[in-house]
Amino acid sequence: MSRVFARGPASLPRVATALGSRVWDTDGQSYLDASGGAIVVGVGHGNETVIEAAARQARAVSYAHATMFAADVLDDYAEALAGLVPVDDAHVYPVSGGSEAVETALKMARAYHLARGEDRHVIVSRRGSYHGNTRGALDASGRDGLRAPYAPWLGAAVHAPSPYEYRCPFPEAHPDGCAAAHVAALDKLFAEWPVAAFIAEPVAGAGLGACVPPSGYWPGVAEACRRHGVLLIADEVMTGFGRTGTWFGLDHWGVRADIVTAGKGAASGYWPLGLAIASGEVHATIAGAFTHGFTYSHHLVGAATGLAVLDALRPLVPGVADKGRFLLDGLRAVLAADERVGDVRGLGLLTGIELVADRATRRPYPRAHRLAERVTATARDLGLLIYHGTGCADGTDGDLVLLGPPLSTSEDELAEIIALCARAIAATR
Ligand code: PMP
Repeated sequence: MSRVFARGPASLPRVATALGSRVWDTDGQSYLDASGGAIVVGVGHGNETVIEAAARQARAVSYAHATMFAADVLDDYAEALAGLVPVDDAHVYPVSGGSEAVETALKMARAYHLARGEDRHVIVSRRGSYHGNTRGALDASGRDGLRAPYAPWLGAAVHAPSPYEYRCPFPEAHPDGCAAAHVAALDKLFAEWPVAAFIAEPVAGAGLGACVPPSGYWPGVAEACRRHGVLLIADEVMTGFGRTGTWFGLDHWGVRADIVTAGKGAASGYWPLGLAIASGEVHATIAGAFTHGFTYSHHLVGAATGLAVLDALRPLVPGVADKGRFLLDGLRAVLAADERVGDVRGLGLLTGIELVADRATRRPYPRAHRLAERVTATARDLGLLIYHGTGCADGTDGDLVLLGPPLSTSEDELAEIIALCARAIAATR
């Protein structure tokens, strides 16, 4: 009997080793990693340069409290990030994961308006979104199923429609007018409420399965935020660090945010690292008066790991767009005949498959059918690791399969992923 508070079924394989895009269990079974866990492992498993950088920092000094010491490694990491993130004059607040990054960003936004004498407190996010499991991040998340048990603690956030082209919330405007309809909906909410910030993923990952918004969406949203004095928080926890083919998701639309949150790919799983990255203006407004902190924020080993991961990513990011197209086209081709595949979508190496009970009406299976979970389990038995999402626009029913292999995955491995994924879906009834 294990005394670990388990997160999965009792009969999980036991992990032993991992290298590149492959993981082995203690029985010697090998798995092709098409999701890097929860879309985490950008640089691949077992990267010796990253491991060595982390070990070197741990040997020199592994921990120093952020209120007691400055550190070169933190300065170097923040400087390197500032040249890459879509934030003007970036200032970096390192934390231990995505949820902490989101909590930090939400509090930064509130603190910013208070410092300017404005009592803005409402956070606007989107239906179907996922921003984390802690209370503030969960409140921002628009997933009914996740929110329901904690409803008495939630309710301060307001949810706007999601740009979800497969189930467009503005069918009368679809397809050419949906971006404008989204912006008009936000304009209305921003006029109605004392809004501190709008938070959204550039490409919706865990919540909606790699939904790419229409081309006018992000420029229009950024403009609406500016018009109403609302801070724009780009949640790049999943889309950051090259995942979608550019360093950050917003880069596809040339849009800058006031605050960017990141995690996952930042340290590629080698260290629990998250980032809340504020613009120079936000930083200057609240610096010195921002009452916030974690014991493990500004962690030195985290910064050393993140810095080495950036170097490991540099040669990989330029190849992601082509690899992503190969994966998307390949999956579309092999899944075209499967009646339960409603949509295959994505950007770069973030790919989503939406499974439906009826392709013509796009009706989802009832959640109790647990198709996405069962497809994931079948895939694992076939030696393929994929990630499942549950929920569509309203966050209740729906079956999503999410793929996000390491950016180092070869084309041969991607071809294997495509074939195994099709077999897993076909074999699950
Ligand atoms: N934001 C987004 C967009 C995410 O995808 C996630 C994790 N799936 C989070 C926040 C929360 O990150 P973490 O699980 O590291 O707390």
